[in-house]
Amino acid sequence: MSDAVLGPGVPPPPDVLLEVRDLRTYFHVMDGTVPAVDGVSFSIKRGETMGLVGESGCGKSVTSLTIMRLLDIPPAEIASGEIWFDGRDLLRLPESEMREVRGNDITMIFQEPMTSLNPVFTIGDQIGEAVQQHRHVSKKAGWDRAVEMLRLVGIPGPERRAKQYPHEMSGGMRQRVMIAMALACDPKLVVADEPTTALDVTIQAQILELIKALQQETGAALLLITHDLAVVAETVQQAAVMYAGKIVETGSVEDVILRPKHPYTEGLLRSIPSHVARGQRLNVIKGTVPNPFRMPVGCRFEPRCPYAFEPCHDHEPPLQAPSGDQSQGVACWLHVPEAQRPGRAVAPASPPAPSQPVVPVESVSRQ
Ligand code: SF4
Repeated sequence: MSDAVLGPGVPPPPDVLLEVRDLRTYFHVMDGTVPAVDGVSFSIKRGETMGLVGESGCGKSVTSLTIMRLLDIPPAEIASGEIWFDGRDLLRLPESEMREVRGNDITMIFQEPMTSLNPVFTIGDQIGEAVQQHRHVSKKAGWDRAVEMLRLVGIPGPERRAKQYPHEMSGGMRQRVMIAMALACDPKLVVADEPTTALDVTIQAQILELIKALQQETGAALLLITHDLAVVAETVQQAAVMYAGKIVETGSVEDVILRPKHPYTEGLLRSIPSHVARGQRLNVIKGTVPNPFRMPVGCRFEPRCPYAFEPCHDHEPPLQAPSGDQSQGVACWLHVPEAQRPGRAVAPASPPAPSQPVVPVESVSRQ
């Protein structure tokens, strides 16, 4: 992952598959405007895997739906930004071209397969139809590809299973079908939105392993949307942490999990139950996410941040490299040199120690 550094209208270099620049997606509702995604920028190189992590309502799913252009406009509005995919800005494509991109070059795996699969068509028909539409092949070729994909995702007896309906399969099996459907057309990018949240823990681990193995086999890039840091730790190379519509920290998974710099990331990691000894109270991030109709003017995490100091209330911190390392980014005044802070504010006496791992990585990984 690299930061978006090029000017407006300039495509990213060819090795960058997806580059989102200063994306703003707002929802206009009766009570006002909700800035669900508010100035988000990130990029994914070809074949790279990236996790977008944050709690419910932080804007991560809206980011993915904006990339796919699957939002209802209105009430949604893509107020500004660029989404460069394979050399084209998706926000400028006519809907007919976008339909070709969707399901062919970019595919999605959703959280609950039962709501994504059609209950009145067989599994084979549904996968086969997607292949027919996007590959312009015969019905037989589509069906054969469906059987091949079911075999690839580890479904036993794929010829027989292809003739079954979604309700005849377990939750884990249906999610395998969704993965088969997502990969059937050899996409360049797979967007997986909470792909294991609706599954029980043992099946979650199998599905994550499958996604990882198939991603490596096919070479597709992966954008994994999740609230679960354990899923990110196990599955992807890069991570971006979102809070209240903004990315607050980015970097390699090792950096973000072992050496978090943003107090919100640190709080998320300290809240993982396996980090707490038996009988001890669980750590929590105090307070609640801000009211989307009245976002704080300065840092959006300020009302909950144990390290908040002078500039945080009135000035929004920029997302920038904390130590000249362009592969990392953090939006926090603690990591901006004193001379560049508003009013040259002095940081509190005991800021977080970024060089110390907050939690051992094995305690983040799934038990
Ligand atoms: Fe906390 Fe201030 Fe950093 Fe925001 S900018 S996370 S309030 S220290």
